[in-house]
Parts: sequence; structure tokens; C-alpha cells
Amino acid sequence: MSEIHEVVIVGSGPAGYTAAIYAARAQLSPILYEGSVTAGGALMNTTEVENFPGFVDGVMGPDLMDSMRKQSERFGTKLVTDDIVSMELGGDIKVLKDGSGNTLQAKSVILATGSAYKEIGLVNEKRLSGRGVSWCATCDGFFFREKVIAVVGGGDSAMEEANFLTKFASKVYVIHRRDSLRASKIMVERAHANPKIEFIWNTEVIDVLGADKVSGLKLRNLLTNEESERDFDGLFVAIGHLPRSELLVGQIDLDGEGYVKVESGSTRTNQKGVFACGDLVDHTYRQAITAAGSGCEAALDAERFLSGH
Ligand code: NAP
Repeated sequence: MSEIHEVVIVGSGPAGYTAAIYAARAQLSPILYEGSVTAGGALMNTTEVENFPGFVDGVMGPDLMDSMRKQSERFGTKLVTDDIVSMELGGDIKVLKDGSGNTLQAKSVILATGSAYKEIGLVNEKRLSGRGVSWCATCDGFFFREKVIAVVGGGDSAMEEANFLTKFASKVYVIHRRDSLRASKIMVERAHANPKIEFIWNTEVIDVLGADKVSGLKLRNLLTNEESERDFDGLFVAIGHLPRSELLVGQIDLDGEGYVKVESGSTRTNQKGVFACGDLVDHTYRQAITAAGSGCEAALDAERFLSGH
């Protein structure tokens, strides 16, 4: 408790690790809390990343994160496999507590806690979670060999999940609430070219059916309001993410959707010495490369802040 650290980084996606690489090279001896369950953030649940510059043939999400992690360690980042469970971010010295009961003091904090999967919000979605309802095709796809699966969503995540699931499933239906997709052109083309994928347009899932595992979905056509039931063995929800800012409520300014507000053109929050980066602040781009870029900015902002004090 007596030691006062220069910078503590909370979160271990591309934003957190990049902030650590920069902070460590600036000799700020960063401590990075990677989380107690899985380090590496959302990219740990993806397959091939084809658009991270520098990898001509693509790179697997977990391999990319492992490289970033090792690179941050190489320059002296101290990685802690635990969660931060509370923070006091006001005042010149920030106080953080971790899941093992340790208390840390720091002159600056970089927040990079990313985002969590969004849920549709149905009671039976929660009840049957892990029993046919999933948010992660790479984690759970294996259990759906020769099964019929529904994927909900119309963005890149939904296309990626649907394509990946065709490795196992006999058929994948993408259920989308509109009649056009938000996903990038290349992902849409890939999904349309996949004979195992079929689209159900203008439709929302209004219930998940099944006693102890998913047996089907109750659907509503949004053009006709007609309701129907259809058999499915699994439901993969890929409707976006929500910022992981629960611990920050009442500590720093958040916007209406829970994203951390930062000063335009910087990663500075309304609390002096507290910086935020990655999906936690980003409504718009939400790419691995933009998260890494904002992690770099947060470390540079923290370095400037510390040298000014
Ligand atoms: P997203 O782009 O926000 O798309 C979410 C999709 O879910 C939208 O089609 C949306 O419908 C639908 N949706 C949202 N709430 C819903 C609800 N309550 N019920 C039913 N449908 C709902 O999220 P994402 O696909 O997770 O992508 C997030 C970011 O990560 C994007 O910037 C994406 O490019 C990036 N990403 C990239 C890759 C890649 O390049 N390989 C892979 C995954 C993600 P509407 O369209 O009607 O709003």
C-alpha cells in the first residue's frame, strides 16, 4: 500500500496492452490488471483477424493478443491476473482494490476495460444461457455439430459467427431485424456465398423455447407483426456490445450509454490523471487497430500528465 505507482492500467485488450507497451518503454513501470478469468479481451473470442496491419495472411485473435501481452512484458510491465473490484479516482492519488484484497495507490490510471456482449433481454435467453444460448461461436460452436442454429444480428460479429458456425452446424439462419446488413461488404459477401447460411429478414426473437435446452425460438415479423415458432438447436446472440463501465459509475463522467466521456482529441477523462481508451470510449470504430491506437494515446497522455506533475 505504501508504494505509489506511476500508472496502473485496468484491462487487457489491444488498448490495455498497447498502453502498457508505451508506458513501459517510457519507464513508468506500469502495472496491468488483465482480469481473473481470461486475459486479452474480446479478441480472445474471435478467429482470424484479417485487417490488423502487418499480418499479410491474417492472424488468429488469441495469437495477436498473446504477442501484445509478451511485448508489454518485454519492456517491464507487471501483469496481474486479477480483477480490479473498486476504484477511488478523485484526488491526486488514486486508490484501487483488487479481487485478492490488495490495495494499490497510483498517480495515474488508464482505463481499458472494453465492452461486454449485449443481450436481447429475454428471460429465457438468460435461463437457457449455456444450454443452447451463447454469445461466442469460437467458445461453443463445437457443441453444435450437425445442428440447426440461429444467429441474431446484422453486423460484422453476426456474419463472423455465422460463417464460423457453418464449420459445425448443418444450417445457420441469420435473424436480422431489418432487411439490410450493417456488416462490411466483404463479410456480407462471404455470408451470402456460404450455402449453409440463410437469412430471415425483418424479424426479431421474442422468446427462446425449451425446458432445459434450446428447442426453438418464437419470432415476430416486424413488417406484418405475425408471430411464429420455429425449431432451432441453438441461439447465438451477436447484437453488439456494451461498455464495461459499471465500476466507474459516480467516479467519472459517462454518457447516456455508459461510455466514458473523454476530452475531444485526447484520452483525458474529467478526473485529473485518469485516462480511458479502447471500446470503453468508442461508439464508432471499435476495431482492434483503433483500440490499440487509443491505448497508445492514453499512455502518451499519462506520460505527459506525470511529467507535468
Ligand atoms: P454492431 O456493428 O453494432 O451490429 C449490431 C447488430 O445487431 C446490428 O445489425 C443491429 O441491428 C443488431 N442489433 C442491435 N441490438 C439489437 C437487438 N436488441 N435486437 C436485435 N438486433 C439488434 O456490432 P458488432 O457486429 O458486434 O460489431 C461491432 C464492431 O466490431 C463493428 O465496428 C465491427 O466492424 C467490428 N467487428 C469487426 C469484425 C471484423 O472485421 N472481422 C468482426 C466483428 C466485429 P441494426 O443494424 O438494425 O442496428
